[in-house]
Amino acid sequence: MTDSAPARPTLDDATQAPRRIPSVERLVGGASEEVLTTYGRTAVTEAVRTILAEIRVQGGPVPDEAAIRSAVAKKLAAERRPSLQPVFNLTGTVLHTNLGRALLPRSAAEAVAAVMVQASNLEFDLATGARGERDDHVEGLICRLTGAEAAVVVNNNAAAVLLVLNALAMRREVVVSRGELVEIGGSFRVPDVMARAGCRLREVGTTNRTHLRDFAEALGPRTGLVMKVHPSNYAITGFTAEAEPMALHALCQEHGVPLAEDLGSGSLVDLAAYGLPPEPTVRAALARADVVTFSGDKLLGAVQCGIVAGRKDLIARVRKNPLKRALRVDKMTYAALEAVLRLYLHPEQLAEELPTLRLLTRPQAAIDAQAHALVPAIAEHLSGWATVSVAECISQIGSGALPVETLPSAAVVLTPDGEGGRRGAGGRCKRLAERLRGLPVPVIGRISDDAIVLDLRTLEDEAGFLDSLSHLSSPNDGAPGRRAC
Ligand SMILES: *Cc1c(COP(=O)(O)O)cnc(C)c1O
Repeated sequence: MTDSAPARPTLDDATQAPRRIPSVERLVGGASEEVLTTYGRTAVTEAVRTILAEIRVQGGPVPDEAAIRSAVAKKLAAERRPSLQPVFNLTGTVLHTNLGRALLPRSAAEAVAAVMVQASNLEFDLATGARGERDDHVEGLICRLTGAEAAVVVNNNAAAVLLVLNALAMRREVVVSRGELVEIGGSFRVPDVMARAGCRLREVGTTNRTHLRDFAEALGPRTGLVMKVHPSNYAITGFTAEAEPMALHALCQEHGVPLAEDLGSGSLVDLAAYGLPPEPTVRAALARADVVTFSGDKLLGAVQCGIVAGRKDLIARVRKNPLKRALRVDKMTYAALEAVLRLYLHPEQLAEELPTLRLLTRPQAAIDAQAHALVPAIAEHLSGWATVSVAECISQIGSGALPVETLPSAAVVLTPDGEGGRRGAGGRCKRLAERLRGLPVPVIGRISDDAIVLDLRTLEDEAGFLDSLSHLSSPNDGAPGRRAC
């Protein structure tokens, strides 16, 4: 703000008297027509007041009016920028929870926009004119794609699990294998969710081995539910055993106890058919369980929501539970989910039309060719900052799917220029990463061995990416990234 202040800023240029802080009225009155129409008088006045207050607090020489005006304009522009904004996810994790997970196809985004700006038949049956049920918009599609008899949609998969537990086993025991009492992504811990749902946890077996007889011994009059949980972000290998799923299901049926399976990701298609490592499908899980819960924004590739699918009588109990009302989703979610589910009706085009599958199935050779083609342009924008090269790397699906399997990919590697050994390199790397986060569309990579690795598996908008990089100023410019100040 004081960059352009003259050497002896305390003297006013015209009167040579000590410069005083100009009045709010003078600064707002003198604001350009453009600034006033863009931001409005209220916001301009507030920004002027804030900047003047900062000058008073800082003390020292008073900057000239031009500098104050420029600080006000900068503040107004910064306030305009939305907090939630698009970024380039080049971390190599395709379904990155912190970066918004699945990307919607444009058709789904348009379906969302259409019901947002106009009234819709969210809970209205157009055939009869009577009240409708919001799940009706997707239930038929989910059943068709999974073989389920019925389905409900809630806020996310954590909510789906909570709801199933509460609806089917409140004040009763839920039998779970010790090896499946997992924590997923920090705040979702199976035992905690169970307690909140009002269920009593009955652990059976050991961490690495659980047998059918362990379940058989635990099942009794107090049992409300048997639950299986996909271990998601970890794998137990070596001397392991689990109850054979079909036999476990038969045992539950004998006792009249429902079996629920929390799939986490839960794919709607066999990923192996697309050359990817296999992940349990919802259809396969429903052959060995009565209800299945899974996320809408993991492998399914839609928006944040949780789906409970399965036996009609059990889904009816889930739907009637008062928590369903608290956990229900908005019309935006139904619009996006319906549009994405419809893509699955055309499996021949799915790998092209569904962004998650399109990115996951990109061959390494194509990503490598893209990286080599982009290096010259990237190197130009990074001149003075880093040396640019191409390297093989490994992408991940993310969001708990296939924790041990990986996808070969290619990356553009930015190795910071300069002296100073490893310590210096680490600092320069962090500085560059900070600048990349400050770009108009922030670029997020991962730091590895004092270099920034940009996995190009998820780069589709090359022009937008290069345009954002073109705003990288030289490392010697004092101008910090917009967040850095
Ligand atoms: C991801 C996951 C959840 C939580 O799903 P959200 O949609 O993120 O709420 C629950 N269970 C398992 C096994 C998961 O992998």
